Amino acid sequence: MLRHLNDELRQQQPSVQLLQVVRIKGKGFGVLAGRDISAGERLLEESPLMRAAPTHGDEPVLQNVERAALSLTAADQANLFSLHQHTGRFGEEKTLEGVWMTNALPLDHGFSGIFLQAARFNHDCCPSAYACWNGQLEKETVHAIADIKRGSEITISYFREGTRLERQEHLQSAFGFECLCAMCGLTGAALEKSDVRQERIRELDEVILAASQAHRPKKEVLALVEERIHLLGEEGFAPSRAKRTMVDAIQVCQAHGDVKGASEWARKARKLVLISGGADSPELALHDEVIQTARGRSSGQAVGSQLADGLAKAGM
Ligand SMILES: [Zn+2]
Repeated sequence: MLRHLNDELRQQQPSVQLLQVVRIKGKGFGVLAGRDISAGERLLEESPLMRAAPTHGDEPVLQNVERAALSLTAADQANLFSLHQHTGRFGEEKTLEGVWMTNALPLDHGFSGIFLQAARFNHDCCPSAYACWNGQLEKETVHAIADIKRGSEITISYFREGTRLERQEHLQSAFGFECLCAMCGLTGAALEKSDVRQERIRELDEVILAASQAHRPKKEVLALVEERIHLLGEEGFAPSRAKRTMVDAIQVCQAHGDVKGASEWARKARKLVLISGGADSPELALHDEVIQTARGRSSGQAVGSQLADGLAKAGM
């Protein structure tokens, strides 16, 4: 299996093997950088091995998963069952439900999918890469969001902000592992500071939304936006983590008729989309439309809500 994966990765990157799938002690498989990597580089684009439709009516989603799995070749079924399963929740013996629930990633329109290669990236609470579904390409893409040294493990995040305890509890219950990342390894005053920041970062998400909905003055809401972006940076997150907060800023400016302000935030967000989603990310078009609106070349109708929808789909 390991050889098969590395062969596939080599075919995608004929000159230099960008990614190396290796066994990492205590983590099962993991992905290492085969060379120095710069923020913004596309590390992977992968079609789903299988995808399952969302639940409709009374039909449980598992039936859709079973149907999709039955249409796989025997070799792909074996590949599917080579993936990790959360043994604490689903037991030692692998089941379709266990493998699916442990590895499925959101696509769009409520669909979920399994990716053999993307599934090999381990979690880090402060990751060096970002994985998202590109509906235009019909592929999951993974981009470096920070510079990564050759030989370092490349990680993505399975979970968003929270205190160390909240993150550990969630990762243990949803995925069955204890996170040993640098952020989770903090102790004493450093841990306390990190936890306070993480709580405020999460709280600000709701505070910004509530302030926008209550039509608070633009200056007041944008100060909250700036505070959240500042805290994300202080916590050591890659700049792209601030993308969704910038969309909040775009929407606040739009709600106040500030076309120029919206355009300026869209420019900033666009740079982050390029890093985390690439030049073919469908999100870019949404930001371009906001920028065009400021130039008087587009009506900009409903762009704000499209942006929010696009990012929600991308899980940001
Ligand atoms: Zn962690």
